[in-house]
Amino acid sequence: MIEFNWVITMKYKLIKGMFPEYLEEKSIQVNEDKIIIYLFSKRKSCNCPSCNTSSSTVATYFTRKMQDLNIIDKPLFLVIRLAKYRCENPDCNTKVFSERIEELAGTKERRTKRLNEMLTKFSLTQSAEAAARRCSDINIKVSGDTLLRLSKKWEPSIDEDSIYSIGIDDFAF
Ligand SMILES: [Zn+2]
Repeated sequence: MIEFNWVITMKYKLIKGMFPEYLEEKSIQVNEDKIIIYLFSKRKSCNCPSCNTSSSTVATYFTRKMQDLNIIDKPLFLVIRLAKYRCENPDCNTKVFSERIEELAGTKERRTKRLNEMLTKFSLTQSAEAAARRCSDINIKVSGDTLLRLSKKWEPSIDEDSIYSIGIDDFAF
């Protein structure tokens, strides 16, 4: 019994740390070739993206499917149940809006932010085709074109305090 509780606690802590706190795990399916985690949102209200009014009127529910970072070499997919809310502001042009999960993935993205970050790193250190092959080796199906697009979107973050001097390699009149 103690062992069983320990497994439950560990699983709970692992899952909690992986997702925003408002997403609750419903079940986990471990297949031969992939892992699927089913989640649902516990939020009771959301702000309209157009007018920022808080709404708690749910119009319907929908599911978003996306790929996340692998777990022990198995591709991980998330199936997340989210709400569509009715905007409660009568002056707003948006009637119904979808619940967003910005911390985890951008709107309409089929991959989590952290998976996209990893793929971007892959594509910055090698050719897009080589990066796509490497992804295929670890069971992540992504095209060279997508990797190229990710690498083009990448913007280096420069810590200005770390720049002491600028070197000029070439100089000519
Ligand atoms: Zn609105």
